[in-house]
Amino acid sequence: MKTDKTDLLSLLRSSGGYVSGQQLCERFGVTRTAVWKAVNQLREEGYRIESVPHRGYRLAESPEDLLSESEIASRLTTDWAGRTLYYLDETGSTNNDAKRLAEEGAPHGTVVAADRQNAGKGRRGRSWQTVSGEALAFTVLLRPQFAADRASMLTLVAALSVAEAVEAAAGVPAMIKWPNDIVIRQKKVCGILTEMTVTPEMGEVQYIVAGIGINVNQESPEVFDREIRDHATSLRIESGRRIGRAGLLCGVLDRLEKNYAVFMRTEDFSGLRQTYEERLQGIGQEVKVLDLAGAYTGISEGINDRGELRVRKADGETVEVYAGEVSVRGLYGYV
Ligand code: ATP
Repeated sequence: MKTDKTDLLSLLRSSGGYVSGQQLCERFGVTRTAVWKAVNQLREEGYRIESVPHRGYRLAESPEDLLSESEIASRLTTDWAGRTLYYLDETGSTNNDAKRLAEEGAPHGTVVAADRQNAGKGRRGRSWQTVSGEALAFTVLLRPQFAADRASMLTLVAALSVAEAVEAAAGVPAMIKWPNDIVIRQKKVCGILTEMTVTPEMGEVQYIVAGIGINVNQESPEVFDREIRDHATSLRIESGRRIGRAGLLCGVLDRLEKNYAVFMRTEDFSGLRQTYEERLQGIGQEVKVLDLAGAYTGISEGINDRGELRVRKADGETVEVYAGEVSVRGLYGYV
């Protein structure tokens, strides 16, 4: 029944007009009663579905910013990303859920999305705040067949995809703070945490989970904790309007699938480098690199074909910074 509801919603959404009851029965191989039941379930969730004798059903209006399995699935435009989908009202961390599913054999492209994450993770044990009803938190499971040293580039592929989708949805320019934070007007709107499991014998990637947290409809910076208030923002704050989270999630998956295909052709960043650099924050400017050994400054010269940040230090040496245990900052603040 769950699938019927999602299939029905997808069909009504893509047709845009009336679809007859007869057509629906034939398409899904179900009875009129089953169609009627699915229509009513959708109505209960807040969809306005008109039914007119001799014409059929039409999706007149969707509930504002509903995040549910049917709402996401009915908006997918991808071949593989999100085609296996798990939606949870609340969870600890979608990355942990995706890792568990991966161990159970979940396929490439599986997505776990949640309305509320109560233990969202950042890098190096940091936390990621997810505000229920307003933020988007999801993880994509990837199973590329390549050596582990390629994996960090997928973080950049994810960042580029989010930046493109966010800009399309919100209509405001989205930049990338290397390697994987999305910033709008110098403030962080998205964080990405990529985790990898490697086969013990071969050093090959077994699977990768890319966790993406986007601040979508938070109304004001006050909702963020005091420590991050100065450098966190949401799409709503920056664009002045509410953004549908299901549509945005599907937009990210669509971009991710396309960028992933470009990446996999060469298994490096050569095909995406230019597009990424067009969005790279701070290019040609002085940045501060914080790594395990300490901090140094230099001019950001963009990235290389492995996605590493090229930083020219004062002594003229150019360092290629690997996206592992480092953070980059502007000289006087977050970017
Ligand atoms: P950077 O150190 O440059 O922020 P990072 O990649 O190390 O980047 P992440 O692991 O992506 O950081 O995210 C964790 C950090 O993001 C937290 O330490 C906190 O400062 C900040 N943060 C947590 N939740 C949010 C949020 N909802 N919006 C914006 N920033 C957040």
